[in-house]
Amino acid sequence: ASRSHLIQATLFPGDGIGPEIAESVKQVFNAAEVPIEWEEHYVGDKVDPRTGSFLTWESLESVRRNGVGLKGPMATPVGKGHRSLNLTLRKELGLYSNVRPCYSLPGYKTRYDDVNLVTIRENTEGEYSGLEHQVVRGVVESLKVITRHASLRVAEYAFHYAKAHGRQRVSAIHKANIMRKTDGLFLKCCREVAEKYPEIQYEEVIIDNCMMMLVKNPTLFDVLVMPNLYGDIISDLCAGLIGGLGLTPSCNIGEGGIALAEAVHGSAPDIAGKNLANPTALLLSAVMMLRHLELYDKGDRIQNAILKTIAEGKYRTGDLGGTSTTTEFTKAICDNL
Ligand code: NAD
Repeated sequence: ASRSHLIQATLFPGDGIGPEIAESVKQVFNAAEVPIEWEEHYVGDKVDPRTGSFLTWESLESVRRNGVGLKGPMATPVGKGHRSLNLTLRKELGLYSNVRPCYSLPGYKTRYDDVNLVTIRENTEGEYSGLEHQVVRGVVESLKVITRHASLRVAEYAFHYAKAHGRQRVSAIHKANIMRKTDGLFLKCCREVAEKYPEIQYEEVIIDNCMMMLVKNPTLFDVLVMPNLYGDIISDLCAGLIGGLGLTPSCNIGEGGIALAEAVHGSAPDIAGKNLANPTALLLSAVMMLRHLELYDKGDRIQNAILKTIAEGKYRTGDLGGTSTTTEFTKAICDNL
Protein backbone atom coordinates (compact mmCIF):
# COMPACT_ATOMS: atom_id res chain seq x y z
CA ALA A 1 0.00 0.00 0.00
CA SER A 2 1.20 3.50 -0.69
CA ARG A 3 1.59 5.78 2.28
CA SER A 4 -1.63 7.62 1.52
CA HIS A 5 -3.60 4.42 2.10
CA LEU A 6 -2.15 3.88 5.53
CA ILE A 7 -4.20 4.55 8.65
CA GLN A 8 -2.27 6.35 11.37
CA ALA A 9 -2.51 4.86 14.86
CA THR A 10 -0.70 5.78 18.05
CA LEU A 11 1.43 3.14 19.77
CA PHE A 12 2.60 3.37 23.37
CA PRO A 13 4.98 0.40 23.74
CA GLY A 14 5.13 1.15 27.47
CA ASP A 15 7.56 -0.17 30.08
CA GLY A 16 9.02 -3.49 31.15
CA ILE A 17 7.89 -6.21 28.73
CA GLY A 18 5.96 -3.52 26.77
CA PRO A 19 8.56 -2.96 24.02
CA GLU A 20 8.97 -6.74 23.49
CA ILE A 21 5.25 -7.44 23.09
CA ALA A 22 4.77 -4.26 21.02
CA GLU A 23 7.49 -5.57 18.67
CA SER A 24 5.47 -8.77 18.38
CA VAL A 25 2.38 -6.77 17.36
CA LYS A 26 4.38 -4.87 14.75
CA GLN A 27 5.73 -8.12 13.28
CA VAL A 28 2.32 -9.79 13.13
CA PHE A 29 0.74 -6.66 11.59
CA ASN A 30 3.50 -6.58 8.95
CA ALA A 31 3.03 -10.25 8.14
CA ALA A 32 -0.74 -9.76 7.83
CA GLU A 33 -0.21 -6.62 5.71
CA VAL A 34 -2.37 -4.48 7.95
CA PRO A 35 -2.57 -0.96 6.45
CA ILE A 36 -1.53 0.82 9.61
CA GLU A 37 1.33 3.18 10.25
CA TRP A 38 2.28 3.46 13.90
CA GLU A 39 3.16 6.73 15.59
CA GLU A 40 5.24 5.59 18.53
CA HIS A 41 5.30 7.47 21.79
CA TYR A 42 7.11 6.57 24.99
CA VAL A 43 6.37 7.77 28.50
CA GLY A 44 8.71 10.69 29.13
CA ASP A 45 11.38 10.78 31.86
CA LYS A 46 10.18 14.07 33.32
CA VAL A 47 6.81 15.59 34.09
CA ASP A 48 5.33 17.51 31.17
CA PRO A 49 3.81 20.64 32.78
CA ARG A 50 1.11 20.72 30.09
CA THR A 51 -0.29 17.34 31.21
CA GLY A 52 0.96 17.29 34.81
CA SER A 53 2.16 13.79 34.05
CA PHE A 54 5.07 11.84 32.54
CA LEU A 55 2.92 11.49 29.43
CA THR A 56 3.78 14.19 26.94
CA TRP A 57 1.24 16.53 25.44
CA GLU A 58 2.36 15.37 21.96
CA SER A 59 1.53 11.73 22.78
CA LEU A 60 -2.02 12.66 23.88
CA GLU A 61 -2.41 14.87 20.81
CA SER A 62 -1.38 11.92 18.68
CA VAL A 63 -4.24 9.77 20.06
CA ARG A 64 -6.72 12.65 19.65
CA ARG A 65 -5.64 13.23 16.08
CA ASN A 66 -5.60 9.55 15.07
CA GLY A 67 -8.67 8.52 17.08
CA VAL A 68 -7.14 5.09 17.67
CA GLY A 69 -4.22 3.76 19.61
CA LEU A 70 -2.67 0.75 21.28
CA LYS A 71 -1.12 0.90 24.73
CA GLY A 72 1.36 -1.47 26.35
CA PRO A 73 1.70 -1.67 30.14
CA MET A 74 3.05 1.41 31.90
CA ALA A 75 4.83 1.39 35.25
CA THR A 76 3.58 4.41 37.16
CA PRO A 77 6.69 6.35 38.30
CA VAL A 78 6.95 6.87 42.05
CA GLY A 79 7.24 10.29 43.63
CA LYS A 80 5.07 13.31 44.17
CA GLY A 81 3.84 16.09 41.95
CA HIS A 82 2.42 14.20 39.01
CA ARG A 83 -0.78 12.50 37.91
CA SER A 84 -0.89 8.74 37.40
CA LEU A 85 -0.43 7.74 33.76
CA ASN A 86 -3.67 5.82 33.49
CA LEU A 87 -5.62 8.61 35.19
CA THR A 88 -4.09 11.16 32.80
CA LEU A 89 -5.09 9.08 29.79
CA ARG A 90 -8.58 8.52 31.12
CA LYS A 91 -9.21 12.18 31.93
CA GLU A 92 -7.46 13.79 28.97
CA LEU A 93 -9.00 11.45 26.41
CA GLY A 94 -12.38 11.17 28.13
CA LEU A 95 -12.12 7.36 28.17
CA TYR A 96 -15.54 6.61 29.62
CA SER A 97 -15.92 2.89 29.13
CA ASN A 98 -13.63 -0.09 29.31
CA VAL A 99 -14.60 -3.10 27.23
CA ARG A 100 -13.14 -6.49 28.04
CA PRO A 101 -14.17 -9.60 26.13
CA CYS A 102 -13.43 -12.91 27.87
CA TYR A 103 -13.76 -16.15 25.95
CA SER A 104 -12.35 -19.62 26.51
CA LEU A 105 -9.32 -20.26 24.32
CA PRO A 106 -9.68 -23.56 22.47
CA GLY A 107 -6.95 -25.97 23.53
CA TYR A 108 -6.03 -24.03 26.65
CA LYS A 109 -7.79 -25.84 29.47
CA THR A 110 -9.16 -24.00 32.47
CA ARG A 111 -11.94 -24.95 34.88
CA TYR A 112 -14.49 -23.63 32.42
CA ASP A 113 -15.24 -24.25 28.75
CA ASP A 114 -17.42 -22.05 26.57
CA VAL A 115 -16.99 -18.79 28.47
CA ASN A 116 -17.95 -16.03 26.06
CA LEU A 117 -18.86 -12.77 27.73
CA VAL A 118 -17.96 -9.09 27.59
CA THR A 119 -17.71 -6.74 30.55
CA ILE A 120 -18.33 -3.03 29.97
CA ARG A 121 -17.18 -0.86 32.84
CA GLU A 122 -18.05 2.76 33.47
CA ASN A 123 -14.63 4.34 33.74
CA THR A 124 -14.95 7.93 34.94
CA GLU A 125 -16.94 8.20 38.16
CA GLY A 126 -18.61 6.07 40.82
CA GLU A 127 -16.27 5.16 43.66
CA TYR A 128 -13.31 6.51 41.64
CA SER A 129 -14.39 10.13 41.82
CA GLY A 130 -11.32 10.80 44.01
CA LEU A 131 -13.47 12.70 46.52
CA GLU A 132 -12.38 11.44 49.93
CA HIS A 133 -12.01 13.42 53.12
CA GLN A 134 -11.91 13.21 56.88
CA VAL A 135 -15.08 14.41 58.58
CA VAL A 136 -13.68 14.32 62.12
CA ARG A 137 -10.88 12.25 63.54
CA GLY A 138 -11.75 8.57 63.16
CA VAL A 139 -14.42 9.20 60.53
CA VAL A 140 -13.70 9.46 56.82
CA GLU A 141 -15.99 9.80 53.86
CA SER A 142 -15.68 8.82 50.21
CA LEU A 143 -18.14 10.11 47.68
CA LYS A 144 -19.56 7.73 45.13
CA VAL A 145 -20.74 9.92 42.29
CA ILE A 146 -23.19 8.61 39.71
CA THR A 147 -24.48 10.96 37.04
CA ARG A 148 -27.22 10.53 34.51
CA HIS A 149 -24.86 11.72 31.79
CA ALA A 150 -22.15 9.10 32.41
CA SER A 151 -24.63 6.29 33.09
CA LEU A 152 -26.57 6.90 29.88
CA ARG A 153 -23.30 7.13 27.94
CA VAL A 154 -21.96 3.77 29.12
CA ALA A 155 -25.38 2.09 28.80
CA GLU A 156 -25.66 3.40 25.23
CA TYR A 157 -22.25 2.00 24.46
CA ALA A 158 -23.14 -1.41 25.97
CA PHE A 159 -26.31 -1.79 23.89
CA HIS A 160 -24.61 -0.44 20.78
CA TYR A 161 -21.81 -2.97 21.31
CA ALA A 162 -24.27 -5.83 21.88
CA LYS A 163 -26.14 -5.02 18.68
CA ALA A 164 -23.01 -4.47 16.59
CA HIS A 165 -21.51 -7.77 17.77
CA GLY A 166 -24.62 -9.91 17.43
CA ARG A 167 -25.00 -10.41 21.16
CA GLN A 168 -28.36 -11.34 22.68
CA ARG A 169 -28.46 -9.91 26.15
CA VAL A 170 -27.23 -7.07 28.35
CA SER A 171 -27.12 -7.55 32.13
CA ALA A 172 -26.84 -4.47 34.32
CA ILE A 173 -24.91 -5.30 37.50
CA HIS A 174 -25.80 -3.31 40.61
CA LYS A 175 -26.47 -3.11 44.34
CA ALA A 176 -29.49 -0.83 44.07
CA ASN A 177 -31.22 -2.61 46.96
CA ILE A 178 -28.68 -0.87 49.24
CA MET A 179 -27.29 1.97 47.12
CA ARG A 180 -30.76 3.12 46.24
CA LYS A 181 -29.93 6.54 44.85
CA THR A 182 -26.62 5.92 43.06
CA ASP A 183 -27.09 2.42 41.65
CA GLY A 184 -30.79 3.23 41.37
CA LEU A 185 -29.99 6.02 38.92
CA PHE A 186 -27.56 3.80 37.05
CA LEU A 187 -30.30 1.18 36.57
CA LYS A 188 -32.86 3.77 35.55
CA CYS A 189 -30.53 4.95 32.78
CA CYS A 190 -29.88 1.36 31.63
CA ARG A 191 -33.66 0.75 31.47
CA GLU A 192 -34.18 3.87 29.40
CA VAL A 193 -31.57 2.78 26.89
CA ALA A 194 -32.87 -0.82 26.88
CA GLU A 195 -36.22 0.44 25.61
CA LYS A 196 -34.54 1.68 22.47
CA TYR A 197 -33.15 -1.79 21.77
CA PRO A 198 -36.13 -4.18 21.90
CA GLU A 199 -34.14 -6.82 20.00
CA ILE A 200 -31.65 -7.12 22.90
CA GLN A 201 -32.82 -8.81 26.10
CA TYR A 202 -32.22 -6.79 29.24
CA GLU A 203 -31.88 -7.99 32.83
CA GLU A 204 -30.69 -6.63 36.17
CA VAL A 205 -28.51 -8.74 38.46
CA ILE A 206 -27.39 -7.86 41.98
CA ILE A 207 -23.59 -7.95 42.17
CA ASP A 208 -23.23 -10.57 44.91
CA ASN A 209 -25.53 -12.96 43.10
CA CYS A 210 -23.73 -12.14 39.84
CA MET A 211 -20.36 -13.16 41.33
CA MET A 212 -21.78 -16.48 42.49
CA MET A 213 -23.37 -17.14 39.11
CA LEU A 214 -20.11 -16.26 37.35
CA VAL A 215 -18.07 -18.81 39.25
CA LYS A 216 -20.79 -21.48 39.09
CA ASN A 217 -21.69 -21.08 35.45
CA PRO A 218 -20.16 -18.19 33.49
CA THR A 219 -22.00 -19.23 30.33
CA LEU A 220 -25.14 -17.63 31.83
CA PHE A 221 -23.80 -14.20 30.82
CA ASP A 222 -23.40 -12.34 27.56
CA VAL A 223 -22.74 -8.57 27.89
CA LEU A 224 -22.44 -7.08 31.40
CA VAL A 225 -22.55 -3.34 32.08
CA MET A 226 -21.74 -1.82 35.45
CA PRO A 227 -20.47 1.11 37.52
CA ASN A 228 -16.73 1.60 37.99
CA LEU A 229 -15.77 -0.39 41.11
CA TYR A 230 -17.92 -3.43 40.28
CA GLY A 231 -16.38 -3.36 36.81
CA ASP A 232 -12.86 -3.29 38.19
CA ILE A 233 -13.52 -6.40 40.26
CA ILE A 234 -15.74 -8.37 37.88
CA SER A 235 -13.50 -7.83 34.85
CA ASP A 236 -10.51 -9.35 36.64
CA LEU A 237 -12.63 -12.23 37.91
CA CYS A 238 -13.74 -12.90 34.33
CA ALA A 239 -10.13 -12.79 33.09
CA GLY A 240 -9.37 -15.43 35.71
CA LEU A 241 -12.13 -17.68 34.34
CA ILE A 242 -10.31 -18.06 31.02
CA GLY A 243 -6.68 -18.28 32.13
CA GLY A 244 -5.50 -14.97 33.49
CA LEU A 245 -4.40 -11.47 32.64
CA GLY A 246 -1.76 -12.60 30.11
CA LEU A 247 -4.55 -13.52 27.69
CA THR A 248 -7.22 -10.86 28.03
CA PRO A 249 -7.44 -7.81 25.79
CA SER A 250 -9.34 -4.64 26.47
CA CYS A 251 -10.30 -1.44 24.75
CA ASN A 252 -11.12 1.97 26.21
CA ILE A 253 -13.75 4.00 24.42
CA GLY A 254 -13.53 7.76 24.69
CA GLU A 255 -15.31 10.92 23.72
CA GLY A 256 -15.65 11.54 20.02
CA GLY A 257 -15.20 7.86 19.22
CA ILE A 258 -11.59 7.54 20.42
CA ALA A 259 -10.50 3.94 20.99
CA LEU A 260 -7.40 3.11 23.01
CA ALA A 261 -6.83 -0.63 23.21
CA GLU A 262 -4.62 -2.01 25.97
CA ALA A 263 -3.44 -5.24 27.52
CA VAL A 264 -4.77 -5.57 31.06
CA HIS A 265 -1.59 -6.87 32.60
CA GLY A 266 1.28 -4.80 34.01
CA SER A 267 4.88 -4.35 32.92
CA ALA A 268 6.01 -7.70 34.43
CA PRO A 269 9.40 -6.44 35.67
CA ASP A 270 10.34 -9.98 36.76
CA ILE A 271 10.57 -11.19 33.15
CA ALA A 272 11.24 -7.93 31.28
CA GLY A 273 14.02 -7.95 28.68
CA LYS A 274 14.28 -11.75 28.73
CA ASN A 275 12.19 -12.57 25.65
CA LEU A 276 9.76 -14.56 27.83
CA ALA A 277 6.60 -12.42 27.75
CA ASN A 278 3.37 -13.65 26.26
CA PRO A 279 2.24 -11.09 23.65
CA THR A 280 -1.29 -12.56 23.36
CA ALA A 281 -3.12 -9.94 25.44
CA LEU A 282 -1.57 -7.03 23.53
CA LEU A 283 -2.10 -8.79 20.18
CA LEU A 284 -5.78 -9.43 20.94
CA SER A 285 -6.09 -5.80 22.07
CA ALA A 286 -4.64 -4.78 18.72
CA VAL A 287 -7.30 -6.98 17.08
CA MET A 288 -9.98 -5.04 19.02
CA MET A 289 -8.49 -1.85 17.60
CA LEU A 290 -8.71 -3.30 14.07
CA ARG A 291 -12.38 -4.17 14.59
CA HIS A 292 -12.99 -0.63 15.85
CA LEU A 293 -11.52 0.53 12.51
CA GLU A 294 -13.86 -1.96 10.79
CA LEU A 295 -10.85 -3.88 9.45
CA TYR A 296 -12.72 -7.09 10.26
CA ASP A 297 -10.89 -9.36 7.79
CA LYS A 298 -7.48 -8.46 9.15
CA GLY A 299 -8.71 -8.72 12.73
CA ASP A 300 -10.26 -12.15 12.20
CA ARG A 301 -7.21 -13.44 10.39
CA ILE A 302 -4.84 -12.38 13.16
CA GLN A 303 -7.13 -13.63 15.93
CA ASN A 304 -7.48 -17.02 14.23
CA ALA A 305 -3.70 -17.32 13.86
CA ILE A 306 -3.20 -16.55 17.57
CA LEU A 307 -5.87 -19.05 18.67
CA LYS A 308 -4.54 -21.70 16.31
CA THR A 309 -1.00 -21.28 17.64
CA ILE A 310 -2.16 -21.61 21.25
CA ALA A 311 -4.44 -24.57 20.42
CA GLU A 312 -1.67 -26.44 18.58
CA GLY A 313 0.34 -26.20 21.78
CA LYS A 314 3.74 -26.56 20.09
CA TYR A 315 4.73 -22.96 20.75
CA ARG A 316 3.59 -21.53 24.04
CA THR A 317 5.22 -19.05 26.40
CA GLY A 318 6.12 -19.91 29.99
CA ASP A 319 2.99 -18.47 31.57
CA LEU A 320 0.95 -21.03 29.55
CA GLY A 321 3.24 -23.87 30.60
CA GLY A 322 5.41 -23.81 27.45
CA THR A 323 9.07 -23.05 26.79
CA SER A 324 8.88 -20.75 23.77
CA THR A 325 10.37 -17.31 23.68
CA THR A 326 8.30 -14.28 22.70
CA THR A 327 10.06 -14.31 19.31
CA GLU A 328 9.38 -18.00 18.62
CA PHE A 329 5.73 -17.69 19.60
CA THR A 330 5.38 -14.58 17.41
CA LYS A 331 6.97 -16.35 14.45
CA ALA A 332 4.57 -19.28 14.89
CA ILE A 333 1.63 -16.84 14.75
CA CYS A 334 3.02 -15.24 11.58
CA ASP A 335 3.41 -18.71 10.02
CA ASN A 336 -0.23 -19.48 10.90
CA LEU A 337 -1.61 -16.33 9.28
P1 NAD B 1 2.10 -7.57 36.31
O1 NAD B 1 0.87 -7.82 35.52
O2 NAD B 1 3.15 -6.75 35.67
O3 NAD B 1 2.75 -8.96 36.71
C1 NAD B 1 2.08 -9.96 37.48
C2 NAD B 1 2.65 -11.35 37.11
O4 NAD B 1 2.13 -11.72 35.83
C3 NAD B 1 4.17 -11.38 36.99
O5 NAD B 1 4.64 -12.62 37.48
C4 NAD B 1 4.41 -11.28 35.51
O6 NAD B 1 5.61 -11.90 35.08
C5 NAD B 1 3.20 -11.98 34.92
N1 NAD B 1 2.81 -11.44 33.61
C6 NAD B 1 2.13 -10.29 33.36
N2 NAD B 1 1.98 -10.10 32.05
C7 NAD B 1 2.55 -11.16 31.44
C8 NAD B 1 2.73 -11.53 30.07
N3 NAD B 1 2.26 -10.78 29.05
N4 NAD B 1 3.39 -12.68 29.79
C9 NAD B 1 3.86 -13.46 30.79
N5 NAD B 1 3.72 -13.17 32.10
C10 NAD B 1 3.08 -12.02 32.43
O7 NAD B 1 1.64 -6.89 37.69
P2 NAD B 1 2.51 -6.18 38.82
O8 NAD B 1 3.79 -6.93 39.03
O9 NAD B 1 1.59 -5.99 39.94
O10 NAD B 1 2.84 -4.73 38.25
C11 NAD B 1 4.11 -4.37 37.67
C12 NAD B 1 4.06 -2.93 37.18
O11 NAD B 1 3.06 -2.77 36.16
C13 NAD B 1 3.72 -1.88 38.23
O12 NAD B 1 4.57 -0.77 38.04
C14 NAD B 1 2.29 -1.49 37.95
O13 NAD B 1 2.01 -0.16 38.30
C15 NAD B 1 2.23 -1.65 36.45
N6 NAD B 1 0.85 -1.93 35.95
C16 NAD B 1 0.46 -1.27 34.86
C17 NAD B 1 -0.78 -1.53 34.30
C18 NAD B 1 -1.20 -0.77 33.06
O14 NAD B 1 -0.41 -0.07 32.48
N7 NAD B 1 -2.43 -0.92 32.62
C19 NAD B 1 -1.61 -2.52 34.85
C20 NAD B 1 -1.16 -3.21 35.98
C21 NAD B 1 0.09 -2.91 36.52
